[in-house]
Amino acid sequence: PISLSRCAKTFHGQRVLEPLDLTIGAGETIVLLGPSGCGKTTTLRMIAGLETPDAGGTVHFGDDDVTRLPIERRQVGMVFQSYALFPNLTVRGNVGYGLKIAKTEPALARKRVDELLAMMQLEAHADKPIDQLSGGQRQRVALARALAREPRVLLLDEPLTALDARLRDTLRRDMNALLRSLNVTTVYVTHDQAEAMELGDRIVVMSAGRIEQIGSPRDIYYRPANRTVAQFVGTIN
Ligand code: ATP
Repeated sequence: PISLSRCAKTFHGQRVLEPLDLTIGAGETIVLLGPSGCGKTTTLRMIAGLETPDAGGTVHFGDDDVTRLPIERRQVGMVFQSYALFPNLTVRGNVGYGLKIAKTEPALARKRVDELLAMMQLEAHADKPIDQLSGGQRQRVALARALAREPRVLLLDEPLTALDARLRDTLRRDMNALLRSLNVTTVYVTHDQAEAMELGDRIVVMSAGRIEQIGSPRDIYYRPANRTVAQFVGTIN
């Protein structure tokens, strides 16, 4: 499991995240849901090791205190809204990039990349440059790349937001099937209620730098803890 304890964040003297406690079970998919600016990405970045919590806060992966470890030592896989793929590499080059950097033995790396290309149904596109792929295919490349080094946690920051609405509906279902089959601990950031409801084992509703409620999709929908949650998930107007 992953646990955040008393994790707050201040930028330039301004508190953007109040001290927050959160435990994510092994294999669980947690969705951080809330309006723009509420602190979702900041929370994700603290788990990734891209931000350090204010003094007093800690981040643990299992028994390991990773609070002061930078991202390259945390074994996390990340997918961003824009995918941030390498445009001058092929699909295979992108998926295998991290393995190459880690100096994984080439035959082993090739096997792992083939496995991931098969898992993501990208075999037919393995040698294509990124700019010949559709949005959905790019997203699958980004996921494959994030999974290449068998991360302890998969961090997804609005991975569907850049896509048009129709494709987003299809990919939400694909993503759901994929996350269930992977069984990897996942933190998924979105401001989209439908995505949160479909993908989350539990949803963390955030607003203005605080957690308003943590619960199953049913709990959040049928038993919102307060008016802010009810308004945000659309139970009341
Ligand atoms: P969005 O959905 O728009 O990405 P969010 O819920 O992910 O929003 P954060 O990106 O975590 O919100 O930002 C929370 C607050 O912290 C915002 O007010 C933002 O302007 C501020 N913030 C984030 N990063 C920094 C930074 N590096 N320096 C200063 N302020 C920051």
